[in-house]
Amino acid sequence: MNNQLDLLIIGAGPAGLSAAYAAAREGLNYLVIEKGTIADTIRHYPVGRALFSTPNELEMIEGSLKPVREKPTREELLSHYVHFVLDHDLKINTGEEVVDAQRQVDGFLVRTNCHEYQAARLLFAIGAMAHPRHLNIPGEDLPKVHHRFVEPYPYVRKNVLVVGGGNSAAEAALFLSEEGARITMAIWREDWENRDPKAGAMKHWVRSPLEREIREGRLRVILYKRIDEITRSEVTLTSDEDESLTLPNDVVFVLVGSDADLTLLRKLGVEITSGKLTQLPVYNQETFETNVRGVYVAGHFTNARHIKAAIDVPRYVVPLIAKDLKAIVSS
Ligand SMILES: Cc1cc2nc3c(=O)[nH]c(=O)nc-3n(C[C@H](O)[C@H](O)[C@H](O)COP(=O)(O)OP(=O)(O)OC[C@H]3O[C@@H](n4cnc5c(N)ncnc54)[C@H](O)[C@@H]3O)c2cc1C
Repeated sequence: MNNQLDLLIIGAGPAGLSAAYAAAREGLNYLVIEKGTIADTIRHYPVGRALFSTPNELEMIEGSLKPVREKPTREELLSHYVHFVLDHDLKINTGEEVVDAQRQVDGFLVRTNCHEYQAARLLFAIGAMAHPRHLNIPGEDLPKVHHRFVEPYPYVRKNVLVVGGGNSAAEAALFLSEEGARITMAIWREDWENRDPKAGAMKHWVRSPLEREIREGRLRVILYKRIDEITRSEVTLTSDEDESLTLPNDVVFVLVGSDADLTLLRKLGVEITSGKLTQLPVYNQETFETNVRGVYVAGHFTNARHIKAAIDVPRYVVPLIAKDLKAIVSS
């Protein structure tokens, strides 16, 4: 199948959904291709998790997200995004992955695992969850090692190690501890001592209950230098005071961040730069167009990271794309 589109949007997270709505309003012939489900990243949050953002930072239309409490849960937010798609009949193909994109004289040829499309403009809204970071140590490939945390209930009274120093690791450790796992958290000293929210310190509403769990003896924190080896029943690690420790262990969660897959952008010729922790595409800060004419970026793998920015950016970028396309047609 070969479809001629004005705009092909890759990814149906908050950025891609916002872009789709803006494209529909602009009268563009658009399509969103999503390899997973609508808001797949949010679907992979831990069950029942409350967002740290307020409704006005997450909703697609002002006043439309009405959680029971002050902040919505994963389930309330997912339902909000699904109903946004249904209510506005947005054009999204789920379960379809973009596997290749090539430049052509007047646009792009995009291949997915099932179809080919031609599009005048491309918007990458691919998020930054493609590659969970690994420790690259012996035993990390054992089935008991996970790089995403979904729920605590299978781990009651199990010996669990959570590795990582950000909010995801801290939340997982807390949730597991509260639901009866025997939990150890391995964290770098600089992460544990970091109290600066702007420098990625864990949120205080995660840290306070975590400290309570530690005080009350349900959670152990080890300031570590490296994890040396994971075996079927143990984990060996080196503390930041160079002490070698061996812990009995049933399950490990390695929650040390994830990276976007920039392969397609690179292949199209988009420049990539090294950020503080990760790599970022180079793009115009006003238009979010990359150095490749007609290729745009939005969302978590740009500097506009959180959901609010992921939603806001396409609201003004897509009208710019529409204006650009109209100018070409009338010239
Ligand atoms: C546990 C956790 C908790 C978080 N809590 C918050 C919070 O409380 N508040 C907040 O603001 N942010 C939070 N975030 C961050 C938030 O989830 C992201 O900022 C947000 O999802 C970014 O939206 P996005 O549309 O840019 O990317 P995503 O939501 O990641 O969407 C990208 C989509 O692109 C799809 N995709 C990627 N490659 C392809 C391809 N080749 N073909 C087709 N589809 C593709 C993916 O499947 C995905 O659905 C949290 C993140 C995590 C992991």
